[in-house]
Amino acid sequence: MLVPEEVFAKERDFLEGFSGETFVVERTISKKLTRKFLLRPTSETVMYYMFSLWVTSYKDLPIKIYQTVNVFRYETEQTHPILRVREIIMFNEAHTVHSSLSDADRQISEAMEIYSKFFDALLLPYVILKTPPWDTFAGAEYNYDFFTLMPDKKAIELGSVINLGQKFARAFDIKFQDSDGEWKYAYQTCYGVSERVLGVLISVHGDNRGIIFPPAVAPIQIVIVPIPGEEIMDKILEKCKNIKDRLKKAGFRVHLDDRPELTPGKKYYWWEFLGVPLRIEIGEKEVKEGKITIARRDIFKRVVILEELLEEEIKKLFSEISKEMYRRAKEWFESNILTATTIEEGMKIYNKNKGGILRFPWCGKDECGLKIEEETGLPALGHNPNEKATGKCVICDSDAKHYFYVGKKY
Ligand SMILES: [Zn+2]
Repeated sequence: MLVPEEVFAKERDFLEGFSGETFVVERTISKKLTRKFLLRPTSETVMYYMFSLWVTSYKDLPIKIYQTVNVFRYETEQTHPILRVREIIMFNEAHTVHSSLSDADRQISEAMEIYSKFFDALLLPYVILKTPPWDTFAGAEYNYDFFTLMPDKKAIELGSVINLGQKFARAFDIKFQDSDGEWKYAYQTCYGVSERVLGVLISVHGDNRGIIFPPAVAPIQIVIVPIPGEEIMDKILEKCKNIKDRLKKAGFRVHLDDRPELTPGKKYYWWEFLGVPLRIEIGEKEVKEGKITIARRDIFKRVVILEELLEEEIKKLFSEISKEMYRRAKEWFESNILTATTIEEGMKIYNKNKGGILRFPWCGKDECGLKIEEETGLPALGHNPNEKATGKCVICDSDAKHYFYVGKKY
């Protein structure tokens, strides 16, 4: 966690890029330290120092390491719980070392695929954008960011995939003897996500009643609420327990809320607030008729199913809920991606829409990207190299190659 200053300072761009947000430890309460330590804002410098000792031959490569640790960053802007914090608690960072540029590029594609699958599983829509050179991760050749939109229509970065090229390898002297006998600098990549993703998940899918967790990641997927009856409370509770055991056995994460002091209505609100995707209600009717009433958190609809089909029906409902949640999120996301062919038009629709992600046809030149950023006054988010644009560059009027994305962001 404490990085000696001389190790931290080895890569110049990195040092400069993180200089504004890295905490420095200089003293104890009563003593001044003989050397300075920096609180890791991310772990490149400590890890790469070790890589330089571990890597000697092409046979050692590739190396792939990840860790989930806390990192510290001084955010000058206002902090937001989970989204923008000074101590990131679950920073999941991966670092890889390769013997060739092509193998590092392959790793970048693999990392993007992994993150795509991950965010897809969370039912989050996103765009993957290559960061413009003037905003590239400190010490990197290039990086890709996954962006989505928060309900306030500001963009937020979900994760970042970074090709470090040989910059750090040169700074940290990470060299290997290749199969041809020559000593060469290694190629590196790194990528990371943090608990911010959880904050985004809660914000994007939630509603006025609280959280809505996608079934695949909900800590509790199903809650069972007994509905008190006149005489057969014992039977109702017994049935609740049976259903719970049955679902548990089938692999579902299920909870029985049998707190006697709360009314069913209070329990409904409580579990809706916590985002449990399905609620099973069991009362007199269910006991007598061999049926089960299930309520969906996402659309507040109840269905009555046959008890013997329980597991099957729940799987079906999970799939329907996931589809509906993704459809809603994606539809909203796409309706807030705004395309304009002049800066003036862009600003008009951006302001009318009260935010979003704004994109313009662009020739691909950095100076035009910088101009777009300057004239809109909105931070550049980057471009998608796989997405072709039609028309003319909004700045220089030559043929457009891609769209250039801008927007306020967290
Ligand atoms: Zn241009």
